[in-house]
Amino acid sequence: MNFDSCPSADWRGKTELRPSRRGFLAIGSAALAMPWLGAAARPCFGAAPWIDHRSYGPFNCHATFPMGDLTPLFQELSALESELQRTLAVPPAQQPIDVFLLDDEREHRELLQQLYPRVPYRRALYVQRSGRGSVYAYRHAEVAVDLRHECTHALLHANLAMVPLWLDEGLAEYFEMPAAERAFQHPHFSKLRWNLRFGMVRSMESLESCHELSEMGGTEYRFAWAWVHFMLHGPLPAHRALVHYLGDIRRGNPPGQLSEHMDRALSQPQQQMVQHFKQWKRT
Ligand SMILES: [Zn+2]
Repeated sequence: MNFDSCPSADWRGKTELRPSRRGFLAIGSAALAMPWLGAAARPCFGAAPWIDHRSYGPFNCHATFPMGDLTPLFQELSALESELQRTLAVPPAQQPIDVFLLDDEREHRELLQQLYPRVPYRRALYVQRSGRGSVYAYRHAEVAVDLRHECTHALLHANLAMVPLWLDEGLAEYFEMPAAERAFQHPHFSKLRWNLRFGMVRSMESLESCHELSEMGGTEYRFAWAWVHFMLHGPLPAHRALVHYLGDIRRGNPPGQLSEHMDRALSQPQQQMVQHFKQWKRT
């Protein structure tokens, strides 16, 4: 596979790749193993000159520059944990999540090359190693979006043994916006409305069939976000179905497919999702 041809692939598990501006990597295979991976889970700092360390909620933040300017962002990330608990009933993380923040892209590239030489370069990366999550990013104009997106993955996977690819990305896309902009101002809105105007819809079942990078592109990300928006802001039974589904995963019950929960919870969910966006506006 030519990773360079897809500059924004995500990693998941042994072989799954996700298209995204950001990346996800769960290390658990011999194919990806590197010498330090056999050790018990602990932060992997690499050789970067970490000069500032702060804790905000579950996040242990380490940076190669003074983080004072970023205090509001880290406080916002800390609030993300409460927001996932409030909206999805996902409990707080039981162990710290490390956030490594580099001063610029060059430092970030060098650290990722050092720590994950076999992983294609990503602007931001979430890594799960022996159950412990780490997020890597660097300072740039959209770092807040990157951190909210990756930290959403980290908080979900801190509690859930698995999250279907499309739902994981749909939730990360939803929560990557600042809290005040999630409901009405996500950039996905404008394209989605055009899609719906021309009758273009992706069913939840079709998203559930996506397991590989080649199967998920911009349209699939947009509709993954749309289904999440519908479940969080649409009819109450749709929200309940999502919460019960995640609860089943958390308790180790075979969850089945979320689309099956949705079909049981409400009639014609796809039509209701389309209708939801036709009517959705700030009152
Ligand atoms: Zn992602």
